Amino acid sequence: MSYFNYRKKTDANSQNELELFAEDVSLREIAKRFGTPCYVYSSTALRNRYQTFSGAVGNAMICYSVKANDNLAVLKTLAAEGAGADIVSGGELKRALAAGICVDKIVFSGVGKTADEIEQSIDVKIGQFNIESEDELELLAKIAIEKNVEAPIAIRINPDVEAKTHDKISTGRARDKFGIDISLAEKLYAKASMMNGISVLGLAMHIGSQLTSFLPFTMAFEVLEELCLRLRREGNQISRVDLGGGVGISYEKGEQLDLQHYGLLVKNLQKKLDVDIILEPGRWMAGPTGLLLSEVIRIKQSGKMTFVILDMAMNDLLRPALYGAWHEVQAVTPNPKENILAEIVGPICESGDIIASNRSISKLVSGDLVAVRDTGAYGSVMSSGYNTRIPAAEVMVSGKQLCLIRKRQSYEDILNKDIIPDWVGAS
Ligand code: PLP
Repeated sequence: MSYFNYRKKTDANSQNELELFAEDVSLREIAKRFGTPCYVYSSTALRNRYQTFSGAVGNAMICYSVKANDNLAVLKTLAAEGAGADIVSGGELKRALAAGICVDKIVFSGVGKTADEIEQSIDVKIGQFNIESEDELELLAKIAIEKNVEAPIAIRINPDVEAKTHDKISTGRARDKFGIDISLAEKLYAKASMMNGISVLGLAMHIGSQLTSFLPFTMAFEVLEELCLRLRREGNQISRVDLGGGVGISYEKGEQLDLQHYGLLVKNLQKKLDVDIILEPGRWMAGPTGLLLSEVIRIKQSGKMTFVILDMAMNDLLRPALYGAWHEVQAVTPNPKENILAEIVGPICESGDIIASNRSISKLVSGDLVAVRDTGAYGSVMSSGYNTRIPAAEVMVSGKQLCLIRKRQSYEDILNKDIIPDWVGAS
């Protein structure tokens, strides 16, 4: 179910024309009030997706992956539903805490946790560190001993499986930087179990993002299950298994994982191993709950090519340029009579600044609005100020309610970050 739907225009002089709404709020209205480019999130969609996911996976603890969308309003919405957080930096820890996420439902993943980040996380008593190297384990133990506490950990294994997703978002192959090589995991687990300052809860993994087939999950779950049984035979305790995120969404009305089936895989594993389960979904939770609203600056005809030049660019949404990702682009007030075939691009000085290539779309003119769909995850979080562009603002709707949830910066804010040394330019 989508919370972004076309409705009949309510203007006096429009005859059966349509316009796109976010829940009960017109996107034209949002553009008028907050300008473009602007991310628009549906809070009802977010809550519904949390409930659907949680219903499908039984009694697993859901630690939403903050990296997918870190806006505090998004985090607070999920926290109110009972979500924990999967974090990968001290900054995300601050966000999770500011949004009121329960500390014991925070798990910290990532290969480069610094001493500072570890200290902060120990001080607030997060629920789990997912350990990705022996060096990190030793550092964590040292800090925990100094603070006279035991840090709860899971060993994140690298099961060496192909996630069959984009190369840049595959994380569970032997050549990827993530997790502990499966052949070394047993030894490290045994070592960790004997260490002061460490309390070993179990195993973790995350094999990649935007998975659209079950095979990689089943293969990885099998590797984890075998390891778990071996470790138990050797006398180790395993009470918890963190299966990471990765459940894909349908960007192009194509392949999509059946969530109920995924839920069954998770529940079966839980039954076999008799463990508590943690899941770290990001994209599935937030992706379809957001769109990026943008205005057409102009149409440029160049030979046979029609370029629709938007006021959003790869600095606002990097996925098409970085991964060749496909996003649906819809006219907010479509022209029912005429379609064009166009390159939909941003104004950035890079030929790769293409939002959608060779795309059939309702005829657009300068000043029209478009919505780039399914951008609630890995959209705003990956934005930058490239070309000294001001990143998109963000709003959230709930029914008829509309609120700005991330302010648009000003050029003054941006320029004020730079400092010119007094010796620069001095003759
Ligand atoms: N957990 C970890 C450790 C991750 O690195 C990621 C992202 O790649 C996720 C969870 C979330 O993945 P997804 O958004 O595909 O659910």
